[in-house]
Order: sequence, then C-alpha cells, then structure tokens
Amino acid sequence: MTDIKSMTLPELRDFFQGLGEPAFRGKQVFSWLSRGAASFGGMSNLPASLRERLGESCLLAVPKAVRKQVSARDGTIKYLWELADGNCIESVLMRYRYGNTVCISSQAGCRMGCAFCASTIAGKVRDLTPGEMLDQVVFTGKDSGAPISNIVLMGIGEPMDNLDAVLKFLEIVNHPDGLNIGMRHISLSTCGVLPGIRRLAELGLQLTLSVSLHAPDRETRSRLMPVNRAYDVEELFAACHDYFEKTGRRISFEYAMIDGVNDQDWQADLIAKRLRGMPGHVNLIPLNDVAESPFRPSRRMAAFQKRLESHGITATVRRSLGGDIDAACGQLRRKAEKGEDSQ
Ligand code: SAH
Repeated sequence: MTDIKSMTLPELRDFFQGLGEPAFRGKQVFSWLSRGAASFGGMSNLPASLRERLGESCLLAVPKAVRKQVSARDGTIKYLWELADGNCIESVLMRYRYGNTVCISSQAGCRMGCAFCASTIAGKVRDLTPGEMLDQVVFTGKDSGAPISNIVLMGIGEPMDNLDAVLKFLEIVNHPDGLNIGMRHISLSTCGVLPGIRRLAELGLQLTLSVSLHAPDRETRSRLMPVNRAYDVEELFAACHDYFEKTGRRISFEYAMIDGVNDQDWQADLIAKRLRGMPGHVNLIPLNDVAESPFRPSRRMAAFQKRLESHGITATVRRSLGGDIDAACGQLRRKAEKGEDSQ
C-alpha cells in the first residue's frame, strides 16, 4: 500500500503520472489530504474509477482521538491519538494571543534518555511518518475547530533522530496548496544532535531552532542528557554559532530549572560566556514533576533570570499552559502505558 499522505507535492504529481493520470491530480489529492479527507470516496473532483483505484492501492488511515483533555484554565487541549498500528502519540493545542499552536510528536517514544523527561522512560517504539505528523496538525485543527497558525516540533521524540521524515513534513505543511504555514511560524526543538543542526544550517530554513540546553557545563549536562556524551556542550555551542551565521536566525535555548542541579549563578555566567557573539534567547521552564524522576523544580528561577539579564541576555520564564491536564512532556502517553488512564 502506498503512503500518499507522506508524499510531497512533486512526489504526488510523479505518482499520478506513473499511474497514467494527469499530474494535476497530484495537487487535487494533496489539498484533500491537507484538509483531512477521511476517504477517497469523498474526493469529489476525482473520477470515480480513480477514487476506487486509489482506495485499493493507497493508505488513508485517520488517527483516532482516544483521549482528549481540555484545560479549564486556559483552553489548552491535549490529544492522545491512536495510529493505524495501535501506537499512541500525543499532540497539544495551545492558544496564544498571536494564534493557535499545535505541539506535535515526531516519534512514538524517544531514545534520547534525558533524566527528567517522561517521554523517554519506555524508549523509542518507532519513527513517525511525515503523514502522521501532518495528521496531528490537521486533525487537531479539525477536531478543535481552531485555525492553526503555528507548529512546534516539541512533543514526544527527537526530530533530529527522524530528520528525513521531519523535512518532508515541513515541505508538506509549508506548501501554499497545503496548509501554507510559513517557516517562521514553525519551531523545531532538539536535545542537541549535532549532525541534524548542521544539516538544518546548510538548508538555511527560516524556522526557529530551539535547543534544549538544560546545563551549560559538561558534567551537569552529561548527567541530565546522555546525548551530551556523544555531542558535547562545547561543540553544541560551536554548532549554534555556525547555525546563526548561516541562517541569521536567533536560536532559542530551553532550560528546565532543576533544584540545586542547574540553577546556580555560575551556570548562568557560563551560559552568558558561551553565547557571546550570538543573540540567543533563554527560555526558563519550570520543571514538570515526573513521578519517576529524582529531580524537583528549582526555587531560584527569578534569581537565575536576573543573573542572565545582568549579562545582557534575554531570558523569559515560560508560562506553563495546561498544568491541570498533564499537558506536559509525554505525561499522558506515559499514564496510558502504565495503565493509569482511568477515563
Ligand atoms: N527531543 C526534543 C523535543 C522534545 S522535548 C528536545 O529535546 O528538544 C520538548 C522539551 O521539553 C525539551 O526542551 C525537553 O527538554 C523538555 N522537557 C522534557 N521533560 C521535561 C520536564 N519534566 N520539565 C520541563 N521540561 C521538560
């Protein structure tokens, strides 16, 4: 069966030409898929014989919302989707003043092993396809009725560990005949997989790169994030400087604040030193408590922010949305895995 949802528009045009059909069928189907068509039968501008043929040879699975939690506080909605093979993944809809943002997953599970993160506890199950990433955006929009203007690849999984599929997904959602979401409305977050950062730098895409920093020194970062043993924080900063030079885009650094571990003034000073020469932005995140983890939220967020600012670095404390609905970092999927999902 052909996974046409994972095809870019040029690929779809080729596909239809290969079937002996005119290439413009590619554009018609591309636009149906970006609108969340649930069957080929409903693609009313295609000849009936073609719809039938596609139905026999192509996949058109639609994710099923098996859980949906709506925050009473801020309207954040968290979805647990079941995929065609029974795997479950999460997406979150967040409503900001500047528009509605969907946070999507790039893998089922994660193999990066960050010590504070719920998504990685059971490891990686598999990569998601471009079509499964597209569906998270399309069906979150469809189900909630909220027009989606922004996408963040900050859900479960490491996008750089599935980069070919992620790049195809970006091409699909960015296309004017599809969802037409501008690159500047898309953020991609990585724990610091350097070959991926370098590849993105070469491509020069105008998306926002977020780097999950969480510690500026080798010892602490290696303790929190095993990826640091493969790609050390010093090399990471070198790659970030290079990324900025090549793309002109300011990088956003994510920093989950952990009590007594990464919240000391010397660490703020070291961040400042390593950022010198580049306009970085540090996003301080209150650590979400994960039952299995020994770490607790820092009590020094304001002091740490001040210290960064004293070096001329922009640092913001991230407003946490959906705190009442397990909206953070793999917590819903984790609960479902552990069988604690009561509703
Ligand atoms: N793998 C990518 C994207 C997914 S994680 C990455 O590492 O960037 C999305 C963000 O949530 C990352 O910055 C991650 O470090 C952070 N995160 C994970 N667990 C967290 C927790 N318990 N509290 C706060 N932030 C957390």
